[in-house]
Amino acid sequence: TWTAEDIQHWLKQFADQIHEHKDELTDLDQKIGDGDHGINMARGVKEMNKLFDEKTFATPGELFKAVAMVYIGKIGGASGPLYGSAMMKMASSAGTQETLSDKELIDALKAGKTAIEQRGKASVGEKTMVDVWVPLLQKFDGSDVDWNAFSDEADELKAKTKEMHAKKGRAAYLGARSVGHIDPGSASSALFFQTLAATAR
Ligand code: ADP
Ligand code: MG
Ligand code: MG
Repeated sequence: TWTAEDIQHWLKQFADQIHEHKDELTDLDQKIGDGDHGINMARGVKEMNKLFDEKTFATPGELFKAVAMVYIGKIGGASGPLYGSAMMKMASSAGTQETLSDKELIDALKAGKTAIEQRGKASVGEKTMVDVWVPLLQKFDGSDVDWNAFSDEADELKAKTKEMHAKKGRAAYLGARSVGHIDPGSASSALFFQTLAATAR
Protein backbone atom coordinates (compact mmCIF):
# COMPACT_ATOMS: atom_id res chain seq x y z
CA THR A 1 0.00 0.00 0.00
CA TRP A 2 0.98 3.60 -0.63
CA THR A 3 0.88 6.29 2.02
CA ALA A 4 1.43 9.95 1.22
CA GLU A 5 4.99 9.46 2.46
CA ASP A 6 5.60 6.57 0.03
CA ILE A 7 4.32 8.67 -2.84
CA GLN A 8 6.51 11.55 -1.76
CA HIS A 9 9.44 9.14 -1.82
CA TRP A 10 8.59 8.17 -5.42
CA LEU A 11 8.22 11.77 -6.56
CA LYS A 12 11.54 12.72 -4.97
CA GLN A 13 13.17 9.95 -7.00
CA PHE A 14 11.43 11.36 -10.06
CA ALA A 15 12.87 14.80 -9.24
CA ASP A 16 16.37 13.30 -8.90
CA GLN A 17 16.04 11.58 -12.27
CA ILE A 18 14.78 14.74 -13.94
CA HIS A 19 17.80 16.63 -12.63
CA GLU A 20 20.10 13.82 -13.75
CA HIS A 21 18.58 13.73 -17.25
CA LYS A 22 17.93 17.47 -17.58
CA ASP A 23 20.43 18.02 -20.41
CA GLU A 24 19.32 14.89 -22.22
CA LEU A 25 15.66 16.03 -22.11
CA THR A 26 16.66 19.46 -23.32
CA ASP A 27 18.75 17.95 -26.15
CA LEU A 28 15.77 15.88 -27.29
CA ASP A 29 13.62 19.02 -27.30
CA GLN A 30 16.37 20.87 -29.16
CA LYS A 31 16.00 18.35 -31.98
CA ILE A 32 12.24 18.57 -32.45
CA GLY A 33 10.99 21.46 -30.30
CA ASP A 34 12.30 24.60 -28.64
CA GLY A 35 14.92 23.05 -26.39
CA ASP A 36 13.41 23.74 -22.98
CA HIS A 37 11.81 20.50 -21.79
CA GLY A 38 14.62 19.61 -19.36
CA ILE A 39 14.63 23.16 -18.03
CA ASN A 40 10.84 23.20 -17.66
CA MET A 41 10.70 19.88 -15.82
CA ALA A 42 13.68 20.70 -13.59
CA ARG A 43 12.03 23.98 -12.56
CA GLY A 44 8.82 22.13 -11.66
CA VAL A 45 10.37 19.32 -9.64
CA LYS A 46 12.67 21.73 -7.80
CA GLU A 47 9.61 23.63 -6.62
CA MET A 48 7.92 20.32 -5.74
CA ASN A 49 10.88 19.40 -3.53
CA LYS A 50 10.56 22.76 -1.80
CA LEU A 51 6.92 21.99 -1.12
CA PHE A 52 7.91 18.61 0.35
CA ASP A 53 10.39 20.33 2.67
CA GLU A 54 7.76 22.74 3.91
CA LYS A 55 4.68 20.58 4.24
CA THR A 56 3.62 17.06 5.19
CA PHE A 57 0.56 15.45 3.69
CA ALA A 58 -2.02 13.30 5.44
CA THR A 59 -3.30 11.59 2.31
CA PRO A 60 -2.07 10.76 -1.20
CA GLY A 61 -4.94 12.87 -2.59
CA GLU A 62 -3.84 15.94 -0.67
CA LEU A 63 -0.27 15.45 -1.91
CA PHE A 64 -1.29 14.98 -5.56
CA LYS A 65 -3.39 18.15 -5.42
CA ALA A 66 -0.55 20.26 -4.04
CA VAL A 67 1.88 18.81 -6.60
CA ALA A 68 -0.65 19.53 -9.38
CA MET A 69 -0.68 23.21 -8.44
CA VAL A 70 3.12 23.33 -8.49
CA TYR A 71 3.35 21.59 -11.87
CA ILE A 72 0.71 23.84 -13.43
CA GLY A 73 2.34 26.96 -12.00
CA LYS A 74 6.00 26.11 -12.53
CA ILE A 75 6.72 23.66 -15.35
CA GLY A 76 5.17 25.85 -18.02
CA GLY A 77 5.12 25.07 -21.75
CA ALA A 78 2.78 22.44 -23.09
CA SER A 79 3.94 19.82 -20.62
CA GLY A 80 3.17 21.74 -17.39
CA PRO A 81 -0.61 21.86 -17.78
CA LEU A 82 -0.57 18.22 -18.97
CA TYR A 83 1.38 16.85 -16.00
CA GLY A 84 -0.60 19.22 -13.75
CA SER A 85 -4.00 18.11 -14.94
CA ALA A 86 -2.92 14.48 -14.65
CA MET A 87 -1.97 15.08 -11.00
CA MET A 88 -5.23 16.93 -10.39
CA LYS A 89 -7.28 13.97 -11.65
CA MET A 90 -5.08 11.60 -9.67
CA ALA A 91 -6.03 13.63 -6.59
CA SER A 92 -9.76 13.25 -7.29
CA SER A 93 -9.34 9.55 -7.92
CA ALA A 94 -7.41 9.07 -4.65
CA GLY A 95 -10.06 11.01 -2.73
CA THR A 96 -9.55 11.21 1.03
CA GLN A 97 -8.20 7.69 1.51
CA GLU A 98 -5.18 7.48 3.79
CA THR A 99 -3.52 4.77 1.72
CA LEU A 100 -3.83 3.48 -1.82
CA SER A 101 -3.36 -0.11 -2.93
CA ASP A 102 -1.31 -0.74 -6.10
CA LYS A 103 -4.61 -1.09 -7.91
CA GLU A 104 -5.94 2.19 -6.55
CA LEU A 105 -2.73 3.95 -7.50
CA ILE A 106 -2.88 2.52 -11.02
CA ASP A 107 -6.54 3.59 -11.19
CA ALA A 108 -5.50 7.11 -10.18
CA LEU A 109 -2.83 7.09 -12.91
CA LYS A 110 -5.45 5.95 -15.43
CA ALA A 111 -7.56 8.96 -14.44
CA GLY A 112 -4.44 11.09 -14.98
CA LYS A 113 -3.92 9.52 -18.39
CA THR A 114 -7.49 10.43 -19.38
CA ALA A 115 -6.89 14.02 -18.25
CA ILE A 116 -3.81 14.25 -20.52
CA GLU A 117 -5.78 12.88 -23.48
CA GLN A 118 -8.65 15.32 -22.87
CA ARG A 119 -6.48 18.37 -22.40
CA GLY A 120 -3.93 17.73 -25.16
CA LYS A 121 -6.32 16.03 -27.59
CA ALA A 122 -3.52 13.79 -28.83
CA SER A 123 -4.02 10.14 -29.73
CA VAL A 124 -1.60 7.23 -29.59
CA GLY A 125 0.89 7.41 -32.47
CA GLU A 126 1.13 11.21 -32.64
CA LYS A 127 4.51 11.32 -30.87
CA THR A 128 3.62 12.82 -27.50
CA MET A 129 3.69 11.71 -23.87
CA VAL A 130 0.34 10.02 -24.61
CA ASP A 131 2.40 7.32 -26.35
CA VAL A 132 3.81 6.31 -22.98
CA TRP A 133 0.87 7.00 -20.66
CA VAL A 134 -1.94 5.38 -22.65
CA PRO A 135 -0.51 2.01 -23.75
CA LEU A 136 1.33 1.53 -20.45
CA LEU A 137 -1.77 2.05 -18.32
CA GLN A 138 -3.89 0.01 -20.69
CA LYS A 139 -1.52 -2.89 -20.26
CA PHE A 140 -1.40 -2.91 -16.45
CA ASP A 141 -4.66 -3.18 -14.53
CA GLY A 142 -3.08 -2.84 -11.12
CA SER A 143 -3.73 -6.20 -9.54
CA ASP A 144 -0.44 -7.97 -8.91
CA VAL A 145 1.70 -5.62 -11.03
CA ASP A 146 5.05 -6.93 -12.27
CA TRP A 147 6.99 -3.72 -11.65
CA ASN A 148 10.03 -4.84 -13.63
CA ALA A 149 7.82 -5.45 -16.66
CA PHE A 150 6.09 -2.12 -16.03
CA SER A 151 9.43 -0.32 -16.05
CA ASP A 152 10.67 -2.11 -19.19
CA GLU A 153 7.42 -1.36 -20.97
CA ALA A 154 7.72 2.36 -20.17
CA ASP A 155 11.21 2.33 -21.69
CA GLU A 156 10.08 0.49 -24.82
CA LEU A 157 7.14 2.83 -25.34
CA LYS A 158 9.45 5.84 -25.07
CA ALA A 159 11.82 4.29 -27.64
CA LYS A 160 8.92 3.65 -30.03
CA THR A 161 8.23 7.39 -30.32
CA LYS A 162 11.52 7.70 -32.22
CA GLU A 163 10.04 6.38 -35.45
CA MET A 164 6.80 8.35 -35.12
CA HIS A 165 5.88 11.37 -37.21
CA ALA A 166 4.75 14.16 -34.85
CA LYS A 167 1.16 15.33 -35.23
CA LYS A 168 0.76 17.34 -32.00
CA GLY A 169 2.81 19.90 -30.11
CA ARG A 170 5.74 21.90 -31.47
CA ALA A 171 7.33 18.85 -33.11
CA ALA A 172 4.35 18.71 -35.48
CA TYR A 173 5.76 21.79 -37.26
CA LEU A 174 8.68 19.62 -38.38
CA GLY A 175 6.39 17.04 -39.90
CA ALA A 176 8.38 14.13 -41.32
CA ARG A 177 11.63 15.66 -40.05
CA SER A 178 10.51 14.76 -36.51
CA VAL A 179 11.11 11.10 -37.38
CA GLY A 180 14.31 9.69 -35.88
CA HIS A 181 14.14 11.49 -32.54
CA ILE A 182 12.57 10.39 -29.25
CA ASP A 183 9.77 12.64 -28.00
CA PRO A 184 11.00 14.64 -24.96
CA GLY A 185 7.71 14.41 -23.04
CA SER A 186 7.72 10.64 -23.52
CA ALA A 187 11.25 10.55 -22.12
CA SER A 188 10.25 12.48 -18.97
CA SER A 189 7.13 10.32 -18.63
CA ALA A 190 9.25 7.17 -18.80
CA LEU A 191 11.27 8.55 -15.86
CA PHE A 192 8.01 9.22 -14.01
CA PHE A 193 6.89 5.60 -14.40
CA GLN A 194 10.31 4.02 -13.93
CA THR A 195 10.84 5.79 -10.61
CA LEU A 196 7.37 4.64 -9.58
CA ALA A 197 8.34 1.05 -10.40
CA ALA A 198 11.65 1.39 -8.58
CA THR A 199 9.85 2.68 -5.47
CA ALA A 200 7.24 -0.07 -5.63
CA ARG A 201 9.52 -3.08 -5.85
P1 ADP B 1 6.77 23.30 -25.11
O1 ADP B 1 6.56 22.41 -26.30
O2 ADP B 1 5.65 24.24 -24.91
O3 ADP B 1 8.12 23.95 -25.10
P2 ADP B 1 7.75 21.25 -23.32
O4 ADP B 1 8.99 21.30 -24.14
O5 ADP B 1 7.94 21.36 -21.84
O6 ADP B 1 6.71 22.33 -23.81
O7 ADP B 1 7.00 19.87 -23.56
C1 ADP B 1 6.96 19.24 -24.82
C2 ADP B 1 6.28 17.89 -24.67
O8 ADP B 1 4.91 18.05 -24.36
C3 ADP B 1 6.29 17.09 -25.96
O9 ADP B 1 7.50 16.36 -26.10
C4 ADP B 1 5.08 16.19 -25.83
O10 ADP B 1 5.38 14.96 -25.18
C5 ADP B 1 4.17 16.98 -24.92
N1 ADP B 1 3.04 17.52 -25.67
C6 ADP B 1 3.01 18.64 -26.43
N2 ADP B 1 1.77 18.83 -26.94
C7 ADP B 1 1.02 17.79 -26.50
C8 ADP B 1 -0.36 17.40 -26.65
N3 ADP B 1 -1.22 18.13 -27.38
N4 ADP B 1 -0.79 16.27 -26.04
C9 ADP B 1 0.06 15.55 -25.29
N5 ADP B 1 1.35 15.86 -25.09
C10 ADP B 1 1.82 16.96 -25.68
MG1 MG C 1 9.84 22.70 -25.36
MG1 MG D 1 8.74 25.94 -24.62
